[in-house]
Amino acid sequence: MSTNRRDFLKLSAIAGALGLVSAKTVAKNKVGKPVVVSTWEHGTPANEAAWKILSQNGRALDAVEAGVRVPEADPEVRTVGYGGYPDAKGIVTLDACIMDDNMNCGSVAFLQNIKHPISVARKVMENTPHVMLVGQGALDFAKTQGFVEEDLLTPESKADWQRWLKEREVKMINIENHDTIGMLALDSAGNLSGACTTSGAAYKMHGRVGDSPLIGAGLYVDNEIGAATATGMGELMIKTVGCHLVVELMRQGASPEQACKQAVERIAAKLGDYKAFQVGFLALNKQGEYGAYCIQSGFNYAVRNQQGAKLIDADSLLQVPA
Ligand code: ASP
Repeated sequence: MSTNRRDFLKLSAIAGALGLVSAKTVAKNKVGKPVVVSTWEHGTPANEAAWKILSQNGRALDAVEAGVRVPEADPEVRTVGYGGYPDAKGIVTLDACIMDDNMNCGSVAFLQNIKHPISVARKVMENTPHVMLVGQGALDFAKTQGFVEEDLLTPESKADWQRWLKEREVKMINIENHDTIGMLALDSAGNLSGACTTSGAAYKMHGRVGDSPLIGAGLYVDNEIGAATATGMGELMIKTVGCHLVVELMRQGASPEQACKQAVERIAAKLGDYKAFQVGFLALNKQGEYGAYCIQSGFNYAVRNQQGAKLIDADSLLQVPA
């Protein structure tokens, strides 16, 4: 046996005896970080902005904030930030939250006239003793932090809302009506963070707040275990505290995809009307493994790492496209 091989075996035996990670795990970790994942196709350009930071050894927290600001500013993305679908009264109201690797989190809900709610959420996290600000209070706070009010209702979203007023057709949240961006990142230092931002369900009741700004429902990060985010019918995630559930399932040993699947199955078992709705969970663990699962087919997610960018169709509980 060569000296090198003998040394390697000896080191492995010592590492094993000390309960340290195996050589295989180390190799997987190397491939696994940094990495960023996010919900839906609009996650692809968002991931690129995050990747600029992650690939230069930047912090996951900075990456997820920079990443989700891309769809927030894009009027073509009709379900996040500027250009998002309004509520039933024709008013764009935004929900967002952010969470770092130290359990710090910040959130805004029912925020109006501010293009980047995720950055206001980060200011709530960093510059206040609170976790969540809503409505006028969130807007007042945003202005003290230098954010400028602007009209977020584009002519396209206004025209769609006026059409909806006549038809009152409520569309299920799915691929043709896709929503929230939830983004999770693992940086080269091995730390996790997440961000989630949305204009919420199109034509929702005025005052309705979904899962997306609620820590535990629309986003959760535990730097020891992993992170999860969600999209779809927020009420279902709130009732199950879905993203916290996904992280806890990973803590018990589930892979990211298994954890997302078990959370969807929990919704199906507990909530009888689940078949009428879409829910998609996306998870990333501390090793850089990721996975997703949804109720209806049609949910996809974007991944960016050293190997490049890809868009993956999540497996679903129901096979018929919505
Ligand atoms: N979860 C969002 C909400 O309920 C909508 C979505 O992601 O599709 O507001």
